[in-house]
Amino acid sequence: MGCQHLEDEYELYLLGAIPPGGGDDLELHLSAQCPNCLEGLREAAESIYWLLQSADPLKPRPAVKSRLASRLAEPARSGERGGGARKR
Ligand SMILES: [Zn+2]
Repeated sequence: MGCQHLEDEYELYLLGAIPPGGGDDLELHLSAQCPNCLEGLREAAESIYWLLQSADPLKPRPAVKSRLASRLAEPARSGERGGGARKR
């Protein structure tokens, strides 16, 4: 499965910065449990987490942190947006 083009999207996805419809490809991979994307997403989550940790001047509020932490706990929830297996 080619995932190269999705590498930039993991962080955006975690930050909720992908516009509706924009993350179709990524969501497809995630709902297919693509190991590359799951791994990439986990790494992106970690890097975002450490980024926030090191960002002293703009301390994220605790609520944001805990929300991010819960995302770390479950990096890929498939079919959250009413997706599921769609037949062609
Ligand atoms: Zn993938």
